[in-house]
Amino acid sequence: MTLLDDLGGSAAERWDPEHEATAEPAFTGPVIELRDLTRTFPGDPPVHALRATDLRVERGEYVSVIGPSGSGKSTLLHMLGLLDRPTTGDYLLDGVPTGTLPERDRAALRGGRIGFVFQSFHLLAQRSVLDNVLLATLYSGVPRSERRDRALAALDRVGLSHRLDFLPTVLSGGERQRVAVARAVIASPHVLLADEPTGNLDSATSEGVLDLFDELHRDGLTLVVITHDDAVSARAQRRVRIADGVLTEVG
Ligand code: ADP
Ligand code: MG
Repeated sequence: MTLLDDLGGSAAERWDPEHEATAEPAFTGPVIELRDLTRTFPGDPPVHALRATDLRVERGEYVSVIGPSGSGKSTLLHMLGLLDRPTTGDYLLDGVPTGTLPERDRAALRGGRIGFVFQSFHLLAQRSVLDNVLLATLYSGVPRSERRDRALAALDRVGLSHRLDFLPTVLSGGERQRVAVARAVIASPHVLLADEPTGNLDSATSEGVLDLFDELHRDGLTLVVITHDDAVSARAQRRVRIADGVLTEVG
């Protein structure tokens, strides 16, 4: 059984609008489409963190974005995650133009369609492993009756069933990141966004997290992994380089 099966259905089933309000047909275009998007931070001089960016990520793709510190990686991830708005240009998520949506609608899209994994895990220190994963279902459209079973299944799949009641503070870095991955996929997101997911892990532990990403990709999940690490980037099916706010395909 695959991880996404554990979480309630095959990849294809998950993309049906089954837990969305409308019955419109599932969108089959790119999950992510940036059109001539820029992000400039005001200042003297202004910082052009993203310059005239076009990017399409198709359903089921595993894309890495590699670039040095300061090249615009986090800015890009914040954009893709609807945590920031473009200065100019458009971002379509599942074909929905997001730039002018009110914050409430952006939050709903974020909660229902995007999973996040961050370098520093961002787990709630005072909550158990199980609660950390369960809390991610609150604004995600996962029916209440399914939440606990899905959290248990997700944690089982990342190998942490024996740590349900532990606080994140007593876990190893690799275990913390596996909790974060379970949390990121429990709501069956349309895309998983990871920002330097192995940045705080040793190389052996990193391998385990990257193996998990491979497995999610095989199950049909769309992944965008942002990294400065060539070995991490090389694990993706498609590689994009970012330098000084400009994206170019590698290879
Ligand atoms: P990376 O993640 O690749 O290290 P960032 O996307 O964080 O790069 O930053 C890209 C550029 O934008 C850097 O020059 C950074 O200093 C600048 N930057 C990022 N966030 C802000 C901000 N909130 N205000 C001003 N400048 C910023
Ligand atoms: Mg960064």
